Amino acid sequence: MRRRNYGRLGFDVSLLGLGCMRLPRITEGPDAGKVDPERAFQLIRYAADHGVTYFDTAYAYHSKNSEAILGEALDGGYREKVKIATKQPLLAMKTQADIRRNLENTLKKLRTDYLDVYLIHSITPDTWAEIKRRDIPGEFERFRAEGLIRAVGFSYHGNFPCFQEVLSYRDWDMCQIQQNFYDTDKEATAAGIRLAGEKGCALVIMEPLRGGGLATPPAAIQSIYGDSRWPNRSAAEWAFRHLINSPEVSCVLSGMTTLEQLKENIAIFSQPDALPGCLSPEEKDLLGRVKAAYEELSFIPCTGCEYCLPCPQGVNIPRIFKIYNNARIFDRLQPQQRLYFLLKRGKGHGSLCVACGACEKKCPQKLDIIGQLKISHELLDGWLE
Ligand code: SF4
Ligand code: SF4
Repeated sequence: MRRRNYGRLGFDVSLLGLGCMRLPRITEGPDAGKVDPERAFQLIRYAADHGVTYFDTAYAYHSKNSEAILGEALDGGYREKVKIATKQPLLAMKTQADIRRNLENTLKKLRTDYLDVYLIHSITPDTWAEIKRRDIPGEFERFRAEGLIRAVGFSYHGNFPCFQEVLSYRDWDMCQIQQNFYDTDKEATAAGIRLAGEKGCALVIMEPLRGGGLATPPAAIQSIYGDSRWPNRSAAEWAFRHLINSPEVSCVLSGMTTLEQLKENIAIFSQPDALPGCLSPEEKDLLGRVKAAYEELSFIPCTGCEYCLPCPQGVNIPRIFKIYNNARIFDRLQPQQRLYFLLKRGKGHGSLCVACGACEKKCPQKLDIIGQLKISHELLDGWLE
């Protein structure tokens, strides 16, 4: 297993980290949907036994059970050999006292006296002002002074300008962003990777396979890979190598569910050339062609310009079209159905549309928004929680 320095903290970690958001689940019976503890323990311990030293979880994962499963799996000798990173969301930090209570609870669940890394979970352009106002990073620093945590970081979802502002606000030890070869101009963007490196901040990557979608490409994409000089390289390996190529990246998280996936990934991240700068110009060109081919597969040609907003009913039109396109392009319906379901909480759901037509008059692409919302709803409605 290849290892990389963890920013300026003076230790290194395995280049592949295990994300504990997609642990194996029970598939049948009254407990269907819950984490399957036996298979999860086996997965976590196999990873720790085969060179994975970085385990990432969060307060909220698996209905708040992921930390406890990881803690139990690492009990009995594994804990000391690995680094544990977990996150607390703003949603759970209603008061300053909550922040401490949640940390104490997390330590109990993880069966440890300290966390290697504690992150503010999912800073976004909408939550950043509140996080600053409440000085949550300062609260985390107090935990560090008490020896309860050893590094302070954050995970991020949003655009590059806000990421730049968050990263420049203070000397963070680490940050965690979504990046993959398809999203180089989205989220924190490829510029975010370079910026984190310039600041000496450990950089952990999430969604390297876009929820697994990049590992199961449609036929049009598969043929680009298959016709290349590397016909036997898997789509997942191509996606991972894009990130391995960046010297700024300390660790790439993958939410592996099966032992088979874990073994394949360990092999990819243990290759002799799994090093910074591993991609040749020819390989970069191929990934550029793959990205362009994915973009051509967009089914609703919405540009995300948002001229159609606000909808008087609150329908989040561009978001719905993006979720729909991702479901079609990446052939991964369930994660997108869940995202669509979550729009109900934010009141942006497609079922709110009353077909008033106001949005269609404003759309520069002249999209049949009402019709496309119906089609999207038919495909995406179906997640039960
Ligand atoms: S047609 Fe539907 S989505 Fe468009 S503005 Fe009216 S309610 Fe909103
Ligand atoms: S105006 Fe049209 S292209 Fe722009 S976000 Fe709305 S639906 Fe998409």
